[in-house]
Amino acid sequence: LVELDHVNKHYGELHVLNDIDVTIPKGQVVVVIGPSGSGKSTFCRAINRLETIDSGEIRIDGVPLPSEGRALAQLRADVGMVFQSFNLFAHKSILENVTLGPIKVRGKKRKEAEEHAMQLLDRVGIGNQAHKMPAQLSGGQQQRVAIARSLAMEPKLMLFDEPTSALDPEMINEVLDVMVELAHGGMTMVVVTHEMGFARKAAERVLFMADGKVMEDSTPEEFFTNPQTSRAKDFLSKIL
Ligand code: ATP
Ligand code: MG
Repeated sequence: LVELDHVNKHYGELHVLNDIDVTIPKGQVVVVIGPSGSGKSTFCRAINRLETIDSGEIRIDGVPLPSEGRALAQLRADVGMVFQSFNLFAHKSILENVTLGPIKVRGKKRKEAEEHAMQLLDRVGIGNQAHKMPAQLSGGQQQRVAIARSLAMEPKLMLFDEPTSALDPEMINEVLDVMVELAHGGMTMVVVTHEMGFARKAAERVLFMADGKVMEDSTPEEFFTNPQTSRAKDFLSKIL
């Protein structure tokens, strides 16, 4: 589904993506982990072309990422992204937040978009809050709305960049539970997170990044019990 073919990116002197060569098949759940500044966010952002790359190629279903116009809007709809900050439209209701994209980008009828939005909001446990405004919801609830909003576009792939790191501890699990369910439902997912529980429960694969490189590519079981590189051992000793 997603192929990164010898991808390189620099910020001036900094080699932020260093020969990244990764193929993610349909339905796979990949956790990306690594120290701060290792390039995890840049990796995610490159996949939906929020960042350009210097060399190499990124393909989705065999097609190189488009650079502009309608094709780029289509790509952003096909590749959902959930960030640390929930970025809901503050002046629109929860329901409107979820229906806006499908109506504007996918050309859905309002009624159909609202029905689908209500199903998704029920699925993330927010069905009874659809008419509230974002500020009336907790952080965990807002993040679940952000997930529903991405899903409403019927993406092929979902990218999550530290979706729980801005949340109070008691809200982390309610968001992770939604993500685990999504993973078990067959969604292709790339998840930047340090939540080991999620990696163990839902991921088939862990990519460990350091200095812009993928240093390890293994199963969660292998990675957490028997990391191969000293960088990974050092990192794990700090976070476990
Ligand atoms: P964190 O765990 O802190 O989120 P990360 O692994 O997501 O880190 P990135 O955000 O991908 O790391 O950043 C990788 C490196 O690139 C960092 O050193 C960062 O300072 C640098 N960087 C990121 N964006 C830019 C930019 N727009 N211009 C210059 N340098 C940047
Ligand atoms: Mg980051």
